[in-house]
Amino acid sequence: MNATPLWLHFQTVINWVNTYFTKYRKEMKGIDWGRLYSEHKADVLDPVSLEERIKKLMIDDEVTSKKGIYEYLLTGKEKFLSLRQFSDSQKRQVYEKQGGICASCGKHFEIEQMEGDYHKPWGLGGKTDNDNCVMLCRDCNREKSNK
Ligand SMILES: [Zn+2]
Repeated sequence: MNATPLWLHFQTVINWVNTYFTKYRKEMKGIDWGRLYSEHKADVLDPVSLEERIKKLMIDDEVTSKKGIYEYLLTGKEKFLSLRQFSDSQKRQVYEKQGGICASCGKHFEIEQMEGDYHKPWGLGGKTDNDNCVMLCRDCNREKSNK
């Protein structure tokens, strides 16, 4: 058995983090870097473009989990960013404006049966404001997110 000594493993992880995430930020504390390293050590990463993207995401109000930025950049999964959601009052306002009509199928629903959908998704620059909210019935919303 030739297991890597623990201290050497830690050093390898730290070196990897320092190589690709060149600017230290307090949000990096408490991240399970050991796991991220073992899952992504073979990824092709560009530290310059990573830093540019981190900076942009740190400024983005829609990103409520700044700590999740690192895992998002490595996996591409938006769930790590805890993106802002439409509030109940926003959904109510848009619901009233639409007269309770689903923007996709044109049928009438109670507000409890509807969900707020992003007209323009976050990835394309969409914000969590009323102008970007569309109320859809659950079926239409599910259908849309499956596409
Ligand atoms: Zn519908």
